[in-house]
Amino acid sequence: MLNIVLFGPPGAGKGTQAERIKNQYSLIHLSTGDIFRANIKGETDLGIMAKNFMDKGELVPDEVTIKMLESEVNKYPDSSGFIFDGFPRTTYQAQKLDEFLTSKSTSITKMIALDVPEQELISRLLSRGKASGRADDQNKDIIVNRIKVYENQTAVLADYYRAQNKLSKVNGIGTVDEVTDRLYHVID
Ligand code: AMP
Repeated sequence: MLNIVLFGPPGAGKGTQAERIKNQYSLIHLSTGDIFRANIKGETDLGIMAKNFMDKGELVPDEVTIKMLESEVNKYPDSSGFIFDGFPRTTYQAQKLDEFLTSKSTSITKMIALDVPEQELISRLLSRGKASGRADDQNKDIIVNRIKVYENQTAVLADYYRAQNKLSKVNGIGTVDEVTDRLYHVID
């Protein structure tokens, strides 16, 4: 199996690139943000709970997020691999993901970190917010908080995967095609 964690701050281009990688390598793309947003739209209990955190740019609690992710993975027993986008976001989530994949006799193959400077992230997110209507992309304070949460709780995961010799960094500046080519190069 090929299991990739596509990593990087909000606005780094994870969702866009994950869609391309998914098609190129026949993987299942799991975006925890997308799954939460679908639950908000469907007004499920999970969505109502997650919205409280997402509206502030905070992380949804680990236990809820992990349980949801595991049940998504379990929906695809025959897949040839996964691309995880927006998960894991805490060391605890990464540890639980490792345990879960080990229980399925598989593991994370690689973490690919997209590198984009903060100023570029803010302008990308604000323009994405105009196009998509995503509430957490339209308010600069929420965006800044999401980047702060990333720096305080998530960025450390690069060390977690580096310690396992699984980290590759990719420059996330350039056209979408240029970044895709760099990603394919790292995966191949
Ligand atoms: P994203 O679409 O990845 O930018 O995620 C949007 C929001 O969903 C985040 O700001 C969090 O509130 C929530 N979220 C997504 N993935 C996770 C996760 N792995 N852990 C906790 N919260 C998450």
